Amino acid sequence: MSRYVFEFSEGNASQKDLLGGKGANLAEMTNLGLPVPPGFTITTDACRVFLRTGELPSELADEIDAHLAELETTMGRTLGHIDDPLLVSVRSGAKFSMPGMMETVLNIGLNDDSVEGLAKVSDNPRFAWDSYRRLLSMFGSTVLGIDRSVFDDALDELKTGRGAETDVDLGAADFRELVSSYHAIIKEHTGEPFPQDPRKQLELSVRAVFSSWNTERAKIYRRQERIPDDLGTAVNVCTMVFGNLGDDSGTGVCFTRDPATGHRGVYGDYLVNAQGEDVVAGIRNTLPLTALGETDPASYERLLEIMSTLESHYQDLCDIEFTVERGTLWMLQTRVGKRTAAAAFRVAVQLVDEGVIELDEALRRVTGAQLAQLMFPQFDVTDDRQLIATGMAASPGAAVGKAAFDSATAVAWAAQGEDVILVRRETNPDDLRGMIAARGVLTSRGGKTSHAAVVARGMGRTCVVGVDALRVDPQAGEFRAPGGVCVKEGDLLSIDGSTGKVFTGSVPVTQSAVVEALLAPGRTADDQTADDRPVAGEAEDDTAEADTAEADTERAELIDAVARVMEHADSVRRMGVLANADTPQDASRARDFGAQGIGLCRTEHMFLGSRRKIVEQVILARSDEQRETALERLLAPQRDDFKGIFEAMDGFPVVVRLLDPPLHEFLPDLTELSVRVAVAQALGRPEEEAAALLKEVQRHHEQNPMLGMRGVRLGLVIPGLFLLQVRAIAEAAAELRSRGLDPRPEIMVPLVGDVKEFAIIREQAAATVQEVSDELGVDLRFPIGTMIELPRAAMTASQIAEEAEFFSFGTNDLTQTAWGFSRDDVEAEFFPHYIEAGIFGVSPFETLDVDGVGRLVSIAAWEGKESRADLVLGVCGEHGGDPDSIHFFESIRLDYVSCSPFRVPVARLESARARLLADDAASEESD
Ligand code: PEP
Ligand code: MG
Repeated sequence: MSRYVFEFSEGNASQKDLLGGKGANLAEMTNLGLPVPPGFTITTDACRVFLRTGELPSELADEIDAHLAELETTMGRTLGHIDDPLLVSVRSGAKFSMPGMMETVLNIGLNDDSVEGLAKVSDNPRFAWDSYRRLLSMFGSTVLGIDRSVFDDALDELKTGRGAETDVDLGAADFRELVSSYHAIIKEHTGEPFPQDPRKQLELSVRAVFSSWNTERAKIYRRQERIPDDLGTAVNVCTMVFGNLGDDSGTGVCFTRDPATGHRGVYGDYLVNAQGEDVVAGIRNTLPLTALGETDPASYERLLEIMSTLESHYQDLCDIEFTVERGTLWMLQTRVGKRTAAAAFRVAVQLVDEGVIELDEALRRVTGAQLAQLMFPQFDVTDDRQLIATGMAASPGAAVGKAAFDSATAVAWAAQGEDVILVRRETNPDDLRGMIAARGVLTSRGGKTSHAAVVARGMGRTCVVGVDALRVDPQAGEFRAPGGVCVKEGDLLSIDGSTGKVFTGSVPVTQSAVVEALLAPGRTADDQTADDRPVAGEAEDDTAEADTAEADTERAELIDAVARVMEHADSVRRMGVLANADTPQDASRARDFGAQGIGLCRTEHMFLGSRRKIVEQVILARSDEQRETALERLLAPQRDDFKGIFEAMDGFPVVVRLLDPPLHEFLPDLTELSVRVAVAQALGRPEEEAAALLKEVQRHHEQNPMLGMRGVRLGLVIPGLFLLQVRAIAEAAAELRSRGLDPRPEIMVPLVGDVKEFAIIREQAAATVQEVSDELGVDLRFPIGTMIELPRAAMTASQIAEEAEFFSFGTNDLTQTAWGFSRDDVEAEFFPHYIEAGIFGVSPFETLDVDGVGRLVSIAAWEGKESRADLVLGVCGEHGGDPDSIHFFESIRLDYVSCSPFRVPVARLESARARLLADDAASEESD
């Protein structure tokens, strides 16, 4: 029989699937002997039953009763007792953290009677009534679905009436009055009074937390973070401890290292006389953690001890939520902390240097997405810019956009292609859409752990929080800054998520230091610091120079960390990483980024521009002679194209794909030509040549050019076209060879569906290479292979492999043809709807559809290898640079991935991680 409830003392950190992240870590801390308030976890299994059936599992009520009874015995108090009530919190906790997305209800067990008991035992009526009003508003909004703002408005009204600045200025009588208002609100909105039975409060709260798994904002968050929809959440029922019992109490959040830089130290926020949600919501501005050291040195010292215990135990940066109740410290949560991309690299390497982890583990702890983020541009510090205020650097990057003061505007403008900065006092989960749409997020309140900071960091959005100096007025659509600056909706704004600085206007951005370092791996971190020191003399205040020096050091550390991780990645990965490039410039940039060759050199663009007219003549030629003359004119320029690229990739393979355009790209536009001919005719000056051309263009016109005369079909139908390219490749290689270089071209045939198509071209190509070889007296031989980008090719891979020396999976076309999706049209047309409906979480053109397209790839790879053992397997569709897809390609043991030059570092890193994680999974299976 399944069990749905576990005491904290029964679990451990490895049980996140069952107990959720929070529950598993509470269990781990309990077993480490840390001061965790006793409680129990209701499993994700129970949630999944609830989500499936709409009912809690039938055994659950009895299990909860039994565990509650045990908890009451441990605590010596009864839930909701009128004299000395035990109170509990009910908190969500999924396997992957979803900050602020799901629900929490605190102070369960309070009712009209037990609040009096609490007032007496605590000797603090203000605290008791404050706690009760918090329960009513949380329960009212979370469980009963009343808009939270109704409660907030009542509180604001009361504060205004009392002339109170903050909640701290309100007393017991005020909260008692607020409780009456809240009761009335609940009755008015639901028709029922607030449930006085504590056990009923608990059950309804558990249901509400389970249901919150499927709120719109939670779904959006999961989609964004690629968290599976079917995991469900656990619920943690935990004895309440109180940070709002007076000035000797408080609550806070801290990190064992700075989550922005990775530096060791004491980082965190603390709020005196407050409950946890006050910190996370950023409602009041927090104090730095060191403030606790001054007011309560004993708790502070104990906290530092625990931070150190947790870091050593988890061997990683931890983030921690804690409460001090009348001088006693309690741990409410810990987890391996979210961090910025830069901190991820720094912390990983710092831990290696501290002897805590190995380099392999460092590699597991960083991701390609983080590396990509570090490759973002940054503001040009030498530019003359107007600094208007500085807040907290919450999530790095340089974002420029128009100020939008609400999420709907941000979403609407972003949909029109505008760059937007979302400006709010603080954000809440309803701002998620706006945050996703915006380039950056700016808030005037909140700390590094506020909702805005945590969510933006998680999604890699640039974010600055807690800019106290700004007076944000969302109604008026403006904010005011010191010095009389007023920024209105639509005005341009630049925010620096790495320094917390806010500028008016659009500040130019510069290349990221990591990109510079990746492009020049020979340079050491020290060189970087010396060479690239930002120009001095733009001091904005006295500390600017010190800031600059610190920034230099941080940058040097980061560059060093990235370089070391990348070096290790290159030693670990099995798959090669090549680039898609078709100019000498792209080829050399790809080399600089570490590409080991070109996996896809598209040749289409080489035939556009001034050469398009010649191709038109090739296609429309009425005689062999006409065609040959036109082809002859293309030979020399095409040979020069290849010489440039082979030279830039000297000593590395260059897979040249023979021409693969939809035919219409090389012919005059049908509509334009028709109009021209018709107009000329109407004017009585018919253009005969144009009319003849129109007839030809009409003859070649296709309804579905992407499924028409493309790829190998073109090569078969237009004699000499592919062979011209093969000759150009061979002649270019021969010439470079004679100059002592080492060109390594390979010839790739596109859009093959049947082995016979390929066999004909292969034979002709091989003969042409031989011809050039004989003519020039140079021994030339190039591998000849094919793209696999049609389902039929995948299904007949064993036949094709008998002829082809390599396969390169063209997963763009393979996705298009496997799904029957037009790759040019569907993404804008209906993908948003598909994503909304959960048909897929992410576009299959971005991340490989493993179940469908991936299966075609793996069947073709497997069967291809069966028929030719030395068949080389690669991928050159967009998926070659996508982290998730790379893990799949490793799992089916492709030989290489090929992607755009800028994604090469990410592919190098993820290929290595994929190999490590695959090895981990294999050894787990064999255990
Ligand atoms: C592909 O189809 O995946 C591919 C790489 O070719 P193209 O994108 O040029 O069609
Ligand atoms: Mg293709």
